[in-house]
Amino acid sequence: MNSESSKGVYLIWAGMQKILITPLTGNLWYNMAIDEDYQETFEKVDTYDGESQPIQIWAKDQDSYSGIGTDKLGIWGTIVGVDFDLCVADGACIDACPVEVFEWIDTPNSTASDKKAIMIREDECIICRACESVCPVEAVLITED
Ligand code: SF4
Repeated sequence: MNSESSKGVYLIWAGMQKILITPLTGNLWYNMAIDEDYQETFEKVDTYDGESQPIQIWAKDQDSYSGIGTDKLGIWGTIVGVDFDLCVADGACIDACPVEVFEWIDTPNSTASDKKAIMIREDECIICRACESVCPVEAVLITED
């Protein structure tokens, strides 16, 4: 069994099984990642104001989304997609982004973390995929037009 930690998030490999532990919340995550087909299989359930354009919010269905202040947040973004139900607020994406696409947004009552990296300047993404590669829970998916 191998383990590593980053900003309070512990990643443990048990064979091929990836287990993520967030000690502050006591949550365990097993081999989860953003759904790569979400733009084909999920519904557009809401939008949120970005700095210069709306951020699209996606969920499996209307019952899977309840908005900020709940534990049903869905996937936010289209070019820069982040599964807010998986995001553990590690912050690696914020540090890695060369053009400051992300900011923190408070998300009380989310099971995974009480803040998320919101793609507030999504239109400035240069598709470098740095955020995608550093996310410890694979919550980020970059999609080119
Ligand atoms: S792909 Fe690159 S530019 Fe776009 S949000 Fe991620 S880190 Fe920032």
